[in-house]
Amino acid sequence: MARILITSAIPYINGIKHLGNLIGSQLPADLYARYLRGRGNEVMFLCATDEHGTPAELAAAKAGKPVAEYCADMYEVQADIAKRFGMSFDHFGRSSSEQNKTLTQHFAGKLDDAGLIREVSEKQVYSNADGRFLPDRYIEGTCPNCGYERARGDQCENCTKQLDPTDLIEPRSAISGSTDLEVRETKHLYLRQSAMKDQLDAWIDSKNDWPILTTSIAKKWLHDGDGLQDRGITRDLDWGVPVKKGDQDWPGMEGKVFYVWFDAPIEYIACAKEWADANGRTDADWERWWRTDKGADDVRYVQFMGKDNVPFHTLSFPATILGTNTYNEESGSSERWKLVDYIKSFNYLNYDGGQFSTSQGRGVFMDQALEILPADYWRWWLLSHAPESSDSEFTWENFQQSVNKDLADVLGNFVSRITKFCRSKFGEAVPEGGAYGDREQALIDELTKRVRAYEGHMEAMEVRKSAQELRAIWVAGNEYLQDAAPWSTFKEDPEQAAAQVRLGLNLIRLYAVLSAPFIPEASAKMLSAMNTLDTSWPDDVAAAMGALPSGHTFTVPDVLFAKITDEQREEWQSRFAGQRD
Ligand SMILES: [Zn+2]
Repeated sequence: MARILITSAIPYINGIKHLGNLIGSQLPADLYARYLRGRGNEVMFLCATDEHGTPAELAAAKAGKPVAEYCADMYEVQADIAKRFGMSFDHFGRSSSEQNKTLTQHFAGKLDDAGLIREVSEKQVYSNADGRFLPDRYIEGTCPNCGYERARGDQCENCTKQLDPTDLIEPRSAISGSTDLEVRETKHLYLRQSAMKDQLDAWIDSKNDWPILTTSIAKKWLHDGDGLQDRGITRDLDWGVPVKKGDQDWPGMEGKVFYVWFDAPIEYIACAKEWADANGRTDADWERWWRTDKGADDVRYVQFMGKDNVPFHTLSFPATILGTNTYNEESGSSERWKLVDYIKSFNYLNYDGGQFSTSQGRGVFMDQALEILPADYWRWWLLSHAPESSDSEFTWENFQQSVNKDLADVLGNFVSRITKFCRSKFGEAVPEGGAYGDREQALIDELTKRVRAYEGHMEAMEVRKSAQELRAIWVAGNEYLQDAAPWSTFKEDPEQAAAQVRLGLNLIRLYAVLSAPFIPEASAKMLSAMNTLDTSWPDDVAAAMGALPSGHTFTVPDVLFAKITDEQREEWQSRFAGQRD
């Protein structure tokens, strides 16, 4: 039994996420968490909403709500959808929590004590009409290079030229449209990542079990061009964690907040404290997951994320932790924080010949997906087509085929045939009589081999390979049933047919246990139909084939998976082509 801490990249608060976001972190993290729990390990699975920054402020303004209220409302929406998709978080937190505020200020103070923070004076555009400094991308104007009239302060999206806001002709605020702008001097804090370059480099080098996709991205940021740059960790905004040095004021930083990219990953830690506080637990209960000086030494910490998040998780967040730990060591403090042990990153899921687009409403969003089909249909397709080694693509044809074949024809049909046949010939109880013979032994041997392979793929977080193996396990049962044909056997040898059916019913329980990480709702239905709470893992497949003894009652479940018709497929294809209503 091991202890595993799992975090999924935290989704930004401004709106409902699409299926590409879901398969990029939350869903595979949930698969892994459910599998590890099923094997009897102690798991802490955390996720949260990422709530700070200008986009949240703008989305709130658009919705006509104060930003705190907007975030509170959107948090409820995201938490509800995640729950309905079966995300088995131990806690779903908020980066705007008091716990995160305190911890973020704590880490900043430690990093400053370590000499890893410096103050930088910068010139930044201030909007008098908006009463605030404007981030570069909230300044618009005419591109000096191509004349495009809606170029942003950081880049012209027409000619792709990188810009400074001061390069723009006739600059204006993207928030209010005001041209009453001026350049003002402002001070910001920078995390001296450049001073930690060698330490980060050595740490990345020590991770020889990480995929190349992950380490190559980190190495590129460490070494390309001028190498790893210091990073601004504060902003002139109202909405965010106020800049403080621990619990002390930070002179000269009044009215400023930490940059969202500084406080968001710290929420992984704060989320554990939120979990403890929400469940009447002590600080020791969450610190044993995050503090290696307080019992987290034997914890394995795994992060799930899309590839775009890799630099922040391999460099910026580790810089926060490494810098704090190094200082603590030198100053004699016992406080040591847990660094990530393994990063599982994903490529992108594309949508039907293009990309998912939140702004254009192109593709299927999480709420819409659940309006048309239960979560398991989506979970199965997304996981069995996870964009691991390369980008993958959602098409309605492929989705229909996968649901109809894998879920309806293979798994659903197996469950339906065996339970209905048993009911008609033996009644709704596991039949007695007969014994398992060579054919059954051959199936048990094959399943044993496949279950061990499935375990290996799941432990290695090889999502697609795990799905393929699980499907092969379902197929093996179907082929056995086809071959043994208890409906024919019954005519000549009812005793043997009884043994075949007994095996089939036990296979349903085995399938429910093995499939639960992928399709938890269907798995629960199968267990309920089999009238059992026995979710023990089939370490011994032969023994598992006797888990439901003769005489054990069951019921015939409703159809587990309905097929997707061509009409449905066509309707959905046109409905989700763009312009979300
Ligand atoms: Zn341009």
